[in-house]
Amino acid sequence: MKTTTDSLEEQLEHRFRYLRPGVREVDTYRVGGPRDLRVKLNQNESPFELPRELKEAILERFLDIPWNRYPSEQPERLIQALSTFLDYPAEGILVGNGSNELTYTLGLCLVQPGERVVLPQPMFSLYEKVVCMYGGTLIAIPPLPSLHFDMEHLLEAIHTHQPALVVLTTPNNPTGFALSEEDVRAVLEASPGFVVIDEAYVEFAGYPGFLPWLYEYPHLILLRTFSKAFGLAGLRVGYLLGHPRVIRELLRSRLPFMVDRLAETVALMLLEHYHLVEERIAWLREARKRLRNDLLTLPQVEVPPSHTNFLIFRTPLPAATVVDMLAQEEVLVRNVSSYPGMDRFLRVNVGTEDENRHFLEALKKTLSEYG
Ligand code: PMP
Repeated sequence: MKTTTDSLEEQLEHRFRYLRPGVREVDTYRVGGPRDLRVKLNQNESPFELPRELKEAILERFLDIPWNRYPSEQPERLIQALSTFLDYPAEGILVGNGSNELTYTLGLCLVQPGERVVLPQPMFSLYEKVVCMYGGTLIAIPPLPSLHFDMEHLLEAIHTHQPALVVLTTPNNPTGFALSEEDVRAVLEASPGFVVIDEAYVEFAGYPGFLPWLYEYPHLILLRTFSKAFGLAGLRVGYLLGHPRVIRELLRSRLPFMVDRLAETVALMLLEHYHLVEERIAWLREARKRLRNDLLTLPQVEVPPSHTNFLIFRTPLPAATVVDMLAQEEVLVRNVSSYPGMDRFLRVNVGTEDENRHFLEALKKTLSEYG
């Protein structure tokens, strides 16, 4: 028997050829950067916790729920509540363990080896990863110099490659930009396969989103989440909206029990208290405006307008230097400079008044020390 560590690794290396090639090509998802700094503005989370009384009311409800029993295969009560909340048929709704988990389902169902998938850039990195893992052929469309999606080349790629899937993220992460209705319509009209629109930030957009278009375009699929505007990133709840027949197909591949009893209870409670969510959205939109105006007063800082709960900004310094300097001041922002066209860009989400002020002061200090 071989006993050295080396030989065990050799044996494994030999067996790794049985792994999916796409899985070997992708990296483990890591947020990166330092953790647990006092002012955490790097993951587009809500800065607001649920009120203590609401948390206690949720825990009270949770005490009455059996922990020894499985939840239902799909969280029917939450699906019903979402159906009422959105005024959309329950048969057209899938709920997942965060919207990222639903993205994996979309990959499993819609990305066959060798099938083409068109993704405009820059885009939330998970989509490229899922296409790669499932063996799809990625057709990435580089952004315009303004960082907007290059619609002309996107539509041309759809015509040329006839993709199984096109993904749009609007409002987009990492840019914060929103697509016009005209552009979305052009993609829907041109696409022979499915079109997924990730609307993770739609509540901040200032427009209602593309839900009504589901009645017009049966190949449209929307992804939404409780992680941002609803402030539930720690509980993991996201949902997908589509034509009921599409949902029926996606359900075949779904793991049952993906939404646990606690997550379902909290999401239900939040839908009952939507006025709280609404107030916070309104506050965050105003705070985004103030934060952008404040950033614009800093010399040599570029800050495009945003439709989300975050802003991107560019300074004359390398992004990694800014991240490190801010971290020394206990502020955590995201380095997004490796996305195509985004050299020197950073991303900061809107925090509380105090967090935003702290961030601005730290950034001023950083720029003056290096300026
Ligand atoms: N979609 C986009 C475009 C995002 O930026 C994010 C947050 N990183 C998500 C989805 C995350 O969704 P969830 O927490 O629901 O998995």
